[in-house]
Amino acid sequence: MAPTGRPTILHADLDAFYASVEQLLDPALRGRPIAVGGGVVLAASYEAKRFGVSGGMSGARARQLCPDLLFVKGHFTEYQRLGDQVMAILEDFTPAVQRISIDEAFLDVTGAVHLFGPPDIIGTKIRRRVREEVGLPISVGAASNKHLAKIASQVAKPDGLVVVPPDGEEAFLHPLPVGLVWGIGPVTQAKLADRGIRTIGELAGSSEDALRSLLGKALGAKIGTLARNDDRRKVTANGRAGSVGSQSAFGRHDIDPRLVREVLGNLADRVAARLRAKHRAGRTVTVRVRFVVPGAPGRSITRSRTGPEPVCTTLTLAEIAEGLVHQALDDHPRETQISLLAISVSNLVDQPVLQLELPVVSDSPLRPGSPTGSARWAVDHSVDRVRERFGKAAVGYASVALGGRGGVPDEFRELAEKEL
Ligand SMILES: [Mg+2]
Repeated sequence: MAPTGRPTILHADLDAFYASVEQLLDPALRGRPIAVGGGVVLAASYEAKRFGVSGGMSGARARQLCPDLLFVKGHFTEYQRLGDQVMAILEDFTPAVQRISIDEAFLDVTGAVHLFGPPDIIGTKIRRRVREEVGLPISVGAASNKHLAKIASQVAKPDGLVVVPPDGEEAFLHPLPVGLVWGIGPVTQAKLADRGIRTIGELAGSSEDALRSLLGKALGAKIGTLARNDDRRKVTANGRAGSVGSQSAFGRHDIDPRLVREVLGNLADRVAARLRAKHRAGRTVTVRVRFVVPGAPGRSITRSRTGPEPVCTTLTLAEIAEGLVHQALDDHPRETQISLLAISVSNLVDQPVLQLELPVVSDSPLRPGSPTGSARWAVDHSVDRVRERFGKAAVGYASVALGGRGGVPDEFRELAEKEL
């Protein structure tokens, strides 16, 4: 948080990104209500949103709301290419750009004002350059902290700029609906509405105890803090970390391939999603297995693999990790119990623009541009998008990633495969 309270944090967010790209690619779609997807709406154009169509909705429901709705298939490689192009424009203004998804980023422009002017001028310049050079509408919010800047960009939509003045933050925030607070999805919103809490002001006035008992300890505390406009998170430029990892301790457990598969599926999901959020991928995958040793703290061993292709898709990471853990177990045939598994990915590189390969040689999920590799990439991006809107629990990945049932809706898979 800028100590002066000046609006030096910007949140830049492309409007209806997937749908806008489709309208950019095909002029016949401009001005028309379109939805990217089929069985499920992945994104809707503003013309379709006016009818109440929105991402995550079933195709059948969307068609009911908007009978003229036009469904188009997604061009995922174009989304990545154009998203990257926009990020490069943002980086012309400051190196402090934190990309948080394919189409949005925070910028700390504290050090840029002497070069480009005050935040409202920077916001205007960004919007003009993205419009002229990429051809897409982008909304920008500016405020003294990240949460407020993100809300400002949502209020600015479509295709607008909102700067929250330092002396008007609460006046801006309090009348807005609670659904704009980070972390409040439709379910939480309904719970709050049951208690008569509809605006951020009403939320800010609720006691922390009440919110904790209604929403759970962690979420209640987080949401209460944000509603009171207390957000001290800094903008951290992407790509600093040397590795991304996660571990799961599950108490002593007999070695069981199903347990291994399930735990690694969840870990791979978490690690790969974090890599994608940072727009990174890694060549080295390391797993750690902790064996239970009676009367001792346990014994950890690691196995790793470095490949030619950087990995960031959930499925591929899970498969590599599973192979490594089985190697480790095979090397220790006398061990019978494990208590922890961990995955980490290192040797990180910037995630390249996906180059689709022609399926002439052998298909391999390890190569991001191969048919299987790119289908996995596209599915992951769809999952990331849905989670961004509806929370992590909205799409369970692990069971599907590892050959189980449930989880990723078939529509995402279909869409991903059609794109090939
Ligand atoms: Mg967006």
